[in-house]
Amino acid sequence: MTTSATPTPGPALDTADDRREELAAGQPAASGPAPGSGVSVAGLRKEFRLGRRSVLALDDVNLSTTEGSFLALIGPSGCGKSTVLRILADLEAPTRGEVLVHGEPPSAARRNHHLGIAFQDSALLPWRSVEANIRLPLEVSGVRPDKKVIADLIALVGLTGFEKARPAQLSGGMRQRVAIARALVVQPKILLLDEPFGALDDMTRQRLNFELLRIWAEHRTTTLLVTHSIPEAVILSDKVAVMSPRPGRIAAVVDIDLPRPRTPDMLRTARFHELHDELSSLLFGGAADPGENAA
Ligand code: ADP
Ligand code: MG
Repeated sequence: MTTSATPTPGPALDTADDRREELAAGQPAASGPAPGSGVSVAGLRKEFRLGRRSVLALDDVNLSTTEGSFLALIGPSGCGKSTVLRILADLEAPTRGEVLVHGEPPSAARRNHHLGIAFQDSALLPWRSVEANIRLPLEVSGVRPDKKVIADLIALVGLTGFEKARPAQLSGGMRQRVAIARALVVQPKILLLDEPFGALDDMTRQRLNFELLRIWAEHRTTTLLVTHSIPEAVILSDKVAVMSPRPGRIAAVVDIDLPRPRTPDMLRTARFHELHDELSSLLFGGAADPGENAA
Protein backbone atom coordinates (compact mmCIF):
# COMPACT_ATOMS: atom_id res chain seq x y z
CA MET A 1 0.00 0.00 0.00
CA THR A 2 1.90 3.03 1.18
CA THR A 3 4.94 3.01 3.41
CA SER A 4 7.43 0.69 1.87
CA ALA A 5 9.62 -0.76 4.60
CA THR A 6 6.72 -2.03 6.67
CA PRO A 7 7.44 -5.46 8.13
CA THR A 8 4.67 -8.05 8.27
CA PRO A 9 1.75 -6.38 9.97
CA GLY A 10 1.10 -7.18 13.58
CA PRO A 11 -2.30 -6.84 15.15
CA ALA A 12 -4.04 -3.56 14.37
CA LEU A 13 -1.33 -2.60 11.91
CA ASP A 14 -1.36 -1.63 8.28
CA THR A 15 -4.59 -3.30 7.34
CA ALA A 16 -6.43 -0.05 7.45
CA ASP A 17 -9.71 -0.41 5.67
CA ASP A 18 -11.17 -3.45 7.31
CA ARG A 19 -10.16 -2.26 10.76
CA ARG A 20 -11.52 1.25 10.56
CA GLU A 21 -14.69 0.64 12.51
CA GLU A 22 -12.79 -1.12 15.23
CA LEU A 23 -10.25 1.69 15.44
CA ALA A 24 -12.95 4.29 15.64
CA ALA A 25 -14.84 2.45 18.34
CA GLY A 26 -13.20 4.19 21.31
CA GLN A 27 -15.73 6.15 23.32
CA PRO A 28 -14.46 9.00 25.44
CA ALA A 29 -15.17 8.67 29.14
CA ALA A 30 -17.34 11.38 30.59
CA SER A 31 -15.31 13.64 32.85
CA GLY A 32 -15.80 17.26 33.70
CA PRO A 33 -12.98 19.79 33.66
CA ALA A 34 -11.08 20.22 36.90
CA PRO A 35 -10.05 23.71 37.91
CA GLY A 36 -6.48 24.58 37.01
CA SER A 37 -6.19 21.62 34.66
CA GLY A 38 -5.71 21.71 30.92
CA VAL A 39 -3.53 24.39 29.36
CA SER A 40 -3.74 28.12 29.90
CA VAL A 41 -1.78 30.72 27.96
CA ALA A 42 -2.30 34.44 28.61
CA GLY A 43 -0.58 37.38 26.96
CA LEU A 44 2.20 35.20 25.61
CA ARG A 45 4.90 37.01 23.69
CA LYS A 46 8.09 35.53 22.28
CA GLU A 47 10.94 37.40 20.72
CA PHE A 48 13.93 35.56 19.36
CA ARG A 49 17.27 37.32 19.28
CA LEU A 50 19.22 36.82 16.09
CA GLY A 51 22.47 38.67 16.71
CA ARG A 52 21.47 42.32 16.88
CA ARG A 53 18.14 41.70 15.24
CA SER A 54 15.09 40.31 16.96
CA VAL A 55 12.23 38.32 15.52
CA LEU A 56 8.81 38.71 17.09
CA ALA A 57 7.42 35.19 16.79
CA LEU A 58 4.39 35.47 19.10
CA ASP A 59 2.48 38.53 20.13
CA ASP A 60 -0.21 38.30 22.80
CA VAL A 61 -1.28 34.69 22.38
CA ASN A 62 -4.25 33.75 24.55
CA LEU A 63 -5.47 30.20 24.63
CA SER A 64 -6.99 27.76 27.06
CA THR A 65 -8.18 24.18 27.05
CA THR A 66 -10.03 22.06 29.55
CA GLU A 67 -8.88 18.79 31.02
CA GLY A 68 -9.46 15.81 28.79
CA SER A 69 -10.07 17.89 25.68
CA PHE A 70 -8.36 17.74 22.31
CA LEU A 71 -7.28 21.05 20.83
CA ALA A 72 -5.59 21.58 17.48
CA LEU A 73 -3.51 24.61 16.65
CA ILE A 74 -3.33 25.48 12.96
CA GLY A 75 -1.79 28.39 11.13
CA PRO A 76 0.49 29.34 8.25
CA SER A 77 4.06 28.14 8.23
CA GLY A 78 6.28 30.25 10.46
CA CYS A 79 3.41 31.73 12.49
CA GLY A 80 4.76 30.34 15.75
CA LYS A 81 2.84 27.09 16.30
CA SER A 82 5.94 25.13 17.28
CA THR A 83 7.10 28.00 19.44
CA VAL A 84 3.85 27.83 21.44
CA LEU A 85 4.33 24.11 21.91
CA ARG A 86 7.99 24.44 22.77
CA ILE A 87 7.15 27.02 25.43
CA LEU A 88 4.48 24.70 26.88
CA ALA A 89 7.05 21.89 26.83
CA ASP A 90 9.59 24.03 28.70
CA LEU A 91 11.98 23.93 25.76
CA GLU A 92 11.82 27.73 25.26
CA ALA A 93 11.17 30.52 27.73
CA PRO A 94 8.46 33.10 27.04
CA THR A 95 9.51 36.72 26.69
CA ARG A 96 6.32 37.75 28.47
CA GLY A 97 3.04 36.21 29.52
CA GLU A 98 1.67 33.50 31.74
CA VAL A 99 1.72 29.86 30.74
CA LEU A 100 0.25 27.10 32.86
CA VAL A 101 0.22 23.42 32.03
CA HIS A 102 -2.13 21.47 34.25
CA GLY A 103 -2.04 24.42 36.63
CA GLU A 104 1.77 24.49 36.82
CA PRO A 105 4.48 26.47 35.06
CA PRO A 106 5.99 24.33 32.26
CA SER A 107 9.21 23.74 34.20
CA ALA A 108 7.29 22.19 37.09
CA ALA A 109 5.07 20.21 34.73
CA ARG A 110 8.17 18.81 33.07
CA ARG A 111 9.82 17.98 36.39
CA ASN A 112 6.67 16.27 37.62
CA HIS A 113 6.37 14.18 34.45
CA HIS A 114 3.10 15.81 33.57
CA LEU A 115 4.17 16.41 29.97
CA GLY A 116 4.31 13.95 27.09
CA ILE A 117 5.88 15.25 23.90
CA ALA A 118 6.06 13.86 20.36
CA PHE A 119 7.30 15.86 17.42
CA GLN A 120 7.32 15.33 13.66
CA ASP A 121 10.72 13.74 13.67
CA SER A 122 10.13 10.83 16.01
CA ALA A 123 13.74 11.19 17.27
CA LEU A 124 13.99 7.56 18.31
CA LEU A 125 17.37 6.22 19.31
CA PRO A 126 18.34 4.02 16.35
CA TRP A 127 20.30 1.49 18.40
CA ARG A 128 17.47 0.90 20.84
CA SER A 129 14.56 -1.48 20.28
CA VAL A 130 10.94 -0.32 20.25
CA GLU A 131 10.45 -1.23 23.90
CA ALA A 132 13.78 0.29 24.96
CA ASN A 133 12.88 3.55 23.20
CA ILE A 134 9.50 3.63 24.92
CA ARG A 135 11.12 2.99 28.32
CA LEU A 136 13.64 5.78 27.87
CA PRO A 137 11.81 8.67 29.62
CA LEU A 138 11.35 6.48 32.69
CA GLU A 139 15.01 5.47 32.73
CA VAL A 140 16.12 9.07 32.35
CA SER A 141 14.07 10.08 35.35
CA GLY A 142 15.21 7.10 37.43
CA VAL A 143 11.80 5.39 37.48
CA ARG A 144 11.87 1.62 37.23
CA PRO A 145 9.88 0.66 34.12
CA ASP A 146 7.03 -1.75 34.76
CA LYS A 147 7.06 -4.50 32.12
CA LYS A 148 3.29 -4.72 31.96
CA VAL A 149 2.88 -0.97 31.55
CA ILE A 150 5.30 -1.05 28.60
CA ALA A 151 3.58 -4.10 27.07
CA ASP A 152 0.17 -2.45 27.44
CA LEU A 153 1.42 0.72 25.77
CA ILE A 154 2.92 -1.26 22.91
CA ALA A 155 -0.44 -2.99 22.47
CA LEU A 156 -2.24 0.35 22.70
CA VAL A 157 -0.29 1.74 19.75
CA GLY A 158 -0.68 -1.53 17.83
CA LEU A 159 2.95 -2.63 17.89
CA THR A 160 2.68 -5.96 19.70
CA GLY A 161 5.15 -8.30 18.04
CA PHE A 162 7.59 -5.47 17.27
CA GLU A 163 8.99 -5.01 20.77
CA LYS A 164 12.50 -5.98 19.72
CA ALA A 165 12.50 -4.22 16.34
CA ARG A 166 14.88 -1.30 15.76
CA PRO A 167 13.55 1.97 14.34
CA ALA A 168 15.19 1.30 10.95
CA GLN A 169 13.07 -1.86 10.66
CA LEU A 170 9.83 0.09 11.02
CA SER A 171 7.76 2.19 8.63
CA GLY A 172 7.44 5.93 9.23
CA GLY A 173 3.96 5.43 10.64
CA MET A 174 5.16 2.77 13.05
CA ARG A 175 7.99 5.01 14.24
CA GLN A 176 5.48 7.74 15.02
CA ARG A 177 3.43 5.23 17.02
CA VAL A 178 6.56 4.44 19.02
CA ALA A 179 7.05 8.18 19.59
CA ILE A 180 3.47 8.50 20.84
CA ALA A 181 3.86 5.50 23.15
CA ARG A 182 7.08 7.04 24.47
CA ALA A 183 5.25 10.32 25.10
CA LEU A 184 2.54 8.43 27.01
CA VAL A 185 4.88 6.27 29.12
CA VAL A 186 5.14 8.84 31.89
CA GLN A 187 1.31 8.92 32.03
CA PRO A 188 1.33 12.63 31.28
CA LYS A 189 -1.44 15.02 32.15
CA ILE A 190 -0.87 16.87 28.88
CA LEU A 191 0.16 15.44 25.54
CA LEU A 192 1.89 17.88 23.18
CA LEU A 193 2.10 16.78 19.55
CA ASP A 194 3.87 18.86 16.92
CA GLU A 195 2.95 17.66 13.42
CA PRO A 196 3.42 14.06 14.52
CA PHE A 197 2.17 12.74 11.18
CA GLY A 198 3.47 15.60 9.04
CA ALA A 199 6.06 13.53 7.23
CA LEU A 200 3.71 10.67 6.38
CA ASP A 201 1.72 10.06 3.23
CA ASP A 202 -2.00 10.91 3.31
CA MET A 203 -3.31 7.38 3.71
CA THR A 204 -0.99 6.51 6.56
CA ARG A 205 -1.73 9.84 8.13
CA GLN A 206 -5.46 9.28 7.99
CA ARG A 207 -5.11 5.82 9.48
CA LEU A 208 -2.96 7.16 12.31
CA ASN A 209 -5.48 9.93 12.96
CA PHE A 210 -8.05 7.29 13.83
CA GLU A 211 -5.47 5.37 15.86
CA LEU A 212 -4.73 8.54 17.79
CA LEU A 213 -8.45 9.06 18.39
CA ARG A 214 -8.72 5.57 19.80
CA ILE A 215 -5.70 6.12 22.07
CA TRP A 216 -6.98 9.50 23.19
CA ALA A 217 -10.44 8.07 23.92
CA GLU A 218 -8.88 5.37 26.07
CA HIS A 219 -6.64 7.65 28.15
CA ARG A 220 -8.46 10.93 27.73
CA THR A 221 -5.19 12.81 28.12
CA THR A 222 -5.55 16.54 27.47
CA THR A 223 -3.98 16.92 24.04
CA LEU A 224 -2.64 19.88 22.11
CA LEU A 225 -1.83 19.08 18.51
CA VAL A 226 -0.03 21.34 16.07
CA THR A 227 -0.89 20.51 12.50
CA HIS A 228 -1.06 22.17 9.11
CA SER A 229 -3.78 19.76 7.99
CA ILE A 230 -7.31 21.13 8.30
CA PRO A 231 -8.97 17.70 7.88
CA GLU A 232 -6.75 16.28 10.61
CA ALA A 233 -7.60 19.18 12.92
CA VAL A 234 -11.34 18.80 12.29
CA ILE A 235 -11.61 15.05 12.68
CA LEU A 236 -9.57 14.90 15.88
CA SER A 237 -10.44 17.99 17.87
CA ASP A 238 -12.97 19.49 20.22
CA LYS A 239 -11.69 22.95 19.30
CA VAL A 240 -9.40 24.29 16.60
CA ALA A 241 -7.41 27.44 17.29
CA VAL A 242 -6.39 29.33 14.16
CA MET A 243 -3.23 31.44 14.33
CA SER A 244 -2.53 34.54 12.29
CA PRO A 245 0.67 34.90 10.25
CA ARG A 246 3.75 35.95 12.23
CA PRO A 247 3.74 37.46 14.74
CA GLY A 248 1.39 34.69 15.76
CA ARG A 249 -1.81 35.43 17.63
CA ILE A 250 -4.96 33.40 18.04
CA ALA A 251 -7.22 34.72 15.32
CA ALA A 252 -10.19 32.47 16.07
CA VAL A 253 -11.20 29.37 17.97
CA VAL A 254 -13.70 27.11 16.23
CA ASP A 255 -15.78 24.54 18.13
CA ILE A 256 -15.87 21.20 16.37
CA ASP A 257 -19.33 19.86 17.05
CA LEU A 258 -19.02 16.55 15.21
CA PRO A 259 -20.26 13.83 17.55
CA ARG A 260 -17.91 11.30 19.15
CA PRO A 261 -16.78 8.68 18.60
CA ARG A 262 -15.52 10.04 15.30
CA THR A 263 -15.55 7.63 12.39
CA PRO A 264 -14.01 7.75 8.90
CA ASP A 265 -17.43 8.17 7.29
CA MET A 266 -17.67 11.57 9.03
CA LEU A 267 -15.01 12.78 6.59
CA ARG A 268 -17.78 12.73 3.99
CA THR A 269 -20.51 14.50 5.96
CA ALA A 270 -21.83 17.95 5.15
CA ARG A 271 -20.89 19.19 8.65
CA PHE A 272 -17.30 18.08 8.23
CA HIS A 273 -17.08 20.02 4.96
CA GLU A 274 -18.69 23.11 6.50
CA LEU A 275 -16.16 23.12 9.33
CA HIS A 276 -13.35 22.49 6.87
CA ASP A 277 -14.47 25.44 4.73
CA GLU A 278 -14.87 27.71 7.74
CA LEU A 279 -11.31 26.95 8.86
CA SER A 280 -9.97 27.33 5.32
CA SER A 281 -11.46 30.77 5.00
CA LEU A 282 -10.12 31.77 8.40
CA LEU A 283 -6.70 30.55 7.35
CA PHE A 284 -6.55 31.63 3.74
CA GLY A 285 -9.45 34.00 3.20
CA GLY A 286 -8.34 36.81 5.46
CA ALA A 287 -11.66 36.57 7.27
CA ALA A 288 -10.08 36.20 10.66
CA ASP A 289 -10.60 39.03 13.06
CA PRO A 290 -7.63 38.88 15.45
CA GLY A 291 -8.81 38.33 18.96
CA GLU A 292 -12.28 37.22 17.95
CA ASN A 293 -13.41 34.15 19.87
CA ALA A 294 -9.98 33.82 21.40
CA ALA A 295 -10.26 31.58 24.40
P1 ADP B 1 5.61 27.25 12.85
O1 ADP B 1 5.80 26.06 13.73
O2 ADP B 1 4.26 27.87 12.92
O3 ADP B 1 5.99 26.97 11.42
P2 ADP B 1 7.81 28.36 14.43
O4 ADP B 1 7.23 28.40 15.79
O5 ADP B 1 8.75 27.25 14.13
O6 ADP B 1 6.63 28.39 13.35
O7 ADP B 1 8.57 29.72 14.14
C1 ADP B 1 7.97 31.00 14.31
C2 ADP B 1 8.94 32.09 13.93
O8 ADP B 1 9.98 32.14 14.89
C3 ADP B 1 9.61 31.88 12.59
O9 ADP B 1 9.77 33.12 11.99
C4 ADP B 1 10.93 31.27 12.95
O10 ADP B 1 11.91 31.58 12.00
C5 ADP B 1 11.24 31.94 14.28
N1 ADP B 1 12.04 31.08 15.16
C6 ADP B 1 11.66 29.89 15.67
N2 ADP B 1 12.63 29.38 16.46
C7 ADP B 1 13.65 30.27 16.43
C8 ADP B 1 14.94 30.34 17.04
N3 ADP B 1 15.38 29.37 17.86
N4 ADP B 1 15.72 31.43 16.77
C9 ADP B 1 15.27 32.40 15.97
N5 ADP B 1 14.07 32.41 15.37
C10 ADP B 1 13.26 31.37 15.59
MG1 MG C 1 6.40 24.10 13.33
